[in-house]
Amino acid sequence: MDFVEALSTDNLTAIKAAPKTDVHCHAFFSARRENVEHWVGHPLTKPPLKMKGVEGMMEYADAVLAPHIKHSEGFEFVAVSAINDAVQDGVVMLEMSFDIRLAEFYPNGIKELCAFIEALVERYKAQMDLRPELGFSRGCADDPKLMALAHEAVELGFFQSIDLYSRQEVCPPEVMKPLFTKARAAGMKLKAHVGEFEDAEEIRRTVEVLDLDEVQHGIAAAESVEVMRWLSEHHIQLNVCPTSNVMLDGVPDLAAHPIRVLFDNGVPVTINTDDLMIFGQSVSEEYRNLYQAGVFSAEELEDIRRASLAR
Ligand SMILES: [Zn+2]
Repeated sequence: MDFVEALSTDNLTAIKAAPKTDVHCHAFFSARRENVEHWVGHPLTKPPLKMKGVEGMMEYADAVLAPHIKHSEGFEFVAVSAINDAVQDGVVMLEMSFDIRLAEFYPNGIKELCAFIEALVERYKAQMDLRPELGFSRGCADDPKLMALAHEAVELGFFQSIDLYSRQEVCPPEVMKPLFTKARAAGMKLKAHVGEFEDAEEIRRTVEVLDLDEVQHGIAAAESVEVMRWLSEHHIQLNVCPTSNVMLDGVPDLAAHPIRVLFDNGVPVTINTDDLMIFGQSVSEEYRNLYQAGVFSAEELEDIRRASLAR
């Protein structure tokens, strides 16, 4: 059964069987919460259906989730569990972001973290193309030790891409320019979270300052025809996570998601998970949800799926 028929007959097994990508996935919160509950041996409080942006999400995650996984054993359980689930979900290319602070879980720091990730790449290479991404929070930009560590991580030549996240107000893109220039010179793909909630113009500015290849979220671009035209002309892909946008209240509900407007204006979009532990929807489920909410036809979702595999 092909993907179009799988969506239109709501055959989740067949939806999962179709090859897909996930290029917006933070390793630390990437496993299903149910699997973490099984591992810790007790249930964990569910997230509220609506949270107040990234701060609201972190309030929940810091109180309920992080205490159980803030060490190498916890992180390693989460990463392996997430990759196993992604394989079952039909994800054949996973660009997984590993925060620079994860190096602090290991006595030998960044090299030991990379050795663990490298072993995962090897272990899963027959089933998926796992591409390690270096993650950096804007909140760490004023920490000279972490910034130096991020430079060291880029110099290792191990990570294939870099992603900047947390609230865009925390630090202007100019602060990150030296690290991103080094990452570009190392041949890495450059990404940043921007326009998750508002400010279409800041999306263009961040892309220009940091010479980004792709934007994580960027859904506020839908407010500006001019910015959408610019993104389309420059082939800047937006890696969208629909359930994350709804739960963090950037979007009222799935049916109103601006991914439709972005698509209609020629902006390249992909469909991704963000933090599965919090948002609870696999890539296959995100495709299915968008179809069932009437955002896209099955044929349009097939076009998005195929385009994501070609990149
Ligand atoms: Zn994200």
